[in-house]
Amino acid sequence: MAEFSELLKRLKAERKRLLQELEQMQSSQRELERRAGGPFGERGEEASQVLELEKRLDMEKRLKKALAEIDHVLEKYDAGTYGLCDSCGNPIEPARLEALPQASLCLSCKARQTRDAR
Ligand SMILES: [Zn+2]
Repeated sequence: MAEFSELLKRLKAERKRLLQELEQMQSSQRELERRAGGPFGERGEEASQVLELEKRLDMEKRLKKALAEIDHVLEKYDAGTYGLCDSCGNPIEPARLEALPQASLCLSCKARQTRDAR
């Protein structure tokens, strides 16, 4: 059985790392905009900058999603429901939590959700 307190520590460390990454990305984005005099610089460079911007936005979205997942399970931890499936309420497999402490669905619910999403 996985130690929840150990998983919590990992989650909090991961959260801090994600926040730092987000922060770093946003400040380098500001620097880029400052140098270019706006989100889009000289003509000709536009295409590559748009691509760059899209890549950043995509990464930012993924970082924020990962943060939201962690925040969600931290709330569950406070509520005393950490390790329980959001959907069916059964305990999430310890091996799954061990591999993915931010999991909020058990394996079978996750599989069903993935199937339904298609
Ligand atoms: Zn479930």
